[in-house]
Amino acid sequence: MNNLDKKTLIAQHPLLQNLIALDEVFWVNPHLETGKEGIEKAPLTQDDIRDAEERLKRFAPYIAKVFPETKPTDGIIESSLVKIPSMKQYLQQANEESIEGELWLKCDSHLPISGSIKARGGIYEVLKHAEKLAIEHGILKLEDDYSIMDSDRFRTFFSGFSIAVGSTGNLGLSIGIISAKLGFHVTVHMSADAKSWKKELLRSKNVNVIEYEADYSKAVEEGRIQAEADPNCYFVDDENSHDLFLGYAVAASRLKNQLEELAVRVDEDHPLFVYLPCGVGGGPGGVAFGLKQLFGDHVHCFFAEPTHSPCMLLGLVTGLHDKISVQDIGIDNCTDADGLAVGRPSGFVGKTIEPFLSGCYTVSDEQLYQHLKELVDQEEIRLEPSALAGMAGPVQLFKNGSGYITKHNLKDKMKNASHIVWATGGSMVPQEMLEVYYQKGHERSSKI
Ligand SMILES: *Cc1c(COP(=O)(O)O)cnc(C)c1O
Repeated sequence: MNNLDKKTLIAQHPLLQNLIALDEVFWVNPHLETGKEGIEKAPLTQDDIRDAEERLKRFAPYIAKVFPETKPTDGIIESSLVKIPSMKQYLQQANEESIEGELWLKCDSHLPISGSIKARGGIYEVLKHAEKLAIEHGILKLEDDYSIMDSDRFRTFFSGFSIAVGSTGNLGLSIGIISAKLGFHVTVHMSADAKSWKKELLRSKNVNVIEYEADYSKAVEEGRIQAEADPNCYFVDDENSHDLFLGYAVAASRLKNQLEELAVRVDEDHPLFVYLPCGVGGGPGGVAFGLKQLFGDHVHCFFAEPTHSPCMLLGLVTGLHDKISVQDIGIDNCTDADGLAVGRPSGFVGKTIEPFLSGCYTVSDEQLYQHLKELVDQEEIRLEPSALAGMAGPVQLFKNGSGYITKHNLKDKMKNASHIVWATGGSMVPQEMLEVYYQKGHERSSKI
């Protein structure tokens, strides 16, 4: 993008000045539609989500067998929903802002197998591919007990195929672990910001890890080129994949059941607010899509991005989606939130969510670290920096979102609201790294 184009764009969208200045911003989506029309424009439907859910059920006996940590849930990969009242107290006091309603944490940070939200989409896409291959080759039927895949016969069969993916880390972990378990040859193309413990862990599981000096977009591009050269190689396309998106979307019906079990109401008078950390967009986009299908206008989804990587916000504000990157307007895409270090959003996700996303906001790395430390102190829950991006959401909403609250007639209902902060990763992070993160938060808190 040349300087003139940039100037014109900034003149059209003054919010870009704040993005460039790395301010924390709160943006309400002017294209949000109420009713069903918005979501019906999506290229996917509730039936597609149900299909994904059924497939995960077919695989549950296999998952329970090869990942014993999933035995308690019978091979269903799911996380808990917990109330965090002490953290709510802290947020209110530290920001001198009252948060009406209850504050919850959705602990995808503790999902079995790979310890992040990628254990939903990433694992689902590989399972779907494996099922397709096995059925096409006549060694599996839909009615079979899928635990038969835990056998040399299947592993030998899958070893004739390969899988590749580009990742900032967590997607690579999920794809690598499940692919290697099934017997596939798997290659993970890692961006420069990927943590070395993730690379080491994958190599210990026989995953081929290729490292790049460049950022996420480059790792994906290289992976795609190398995979295309091999007809037996399947490329998991984080920027465009419908299967990843559907794997994430399954979270919604599971969450609905959890809310019912906890007697948490979501309806006209009990709004639900969900705050989702966003990288390329598939994870939060899929979850939001699933939630809007089930709860319609009663759920309000906000995406959270680092101030140094506000790619989805930039794509939505300008309407340019994947035709613009944060680097195009001079933002460096350098953040400690490695899961969110993405400079260019998914065009597919941006266009799909545009009619039903409530808004986006950005968070500084400083703030992520402070919230990381406080969540340990208040609730004894340890997350990776990316996973804290949702935590600023409720305060941002009450501080800067009064226009949104009024517009949707929510003022009197906020006392009945539920706020869910989606904690997207952390349980696989080595103890000593968590300690370093905590100390960073500690230093930042004592500076103030
Ligand atoms: C990948 C990831 C996200 C965001 O998911 P996208 O699909 O990239 O938008 C958020 N948090 C963590 C920890 C992640 O690994």
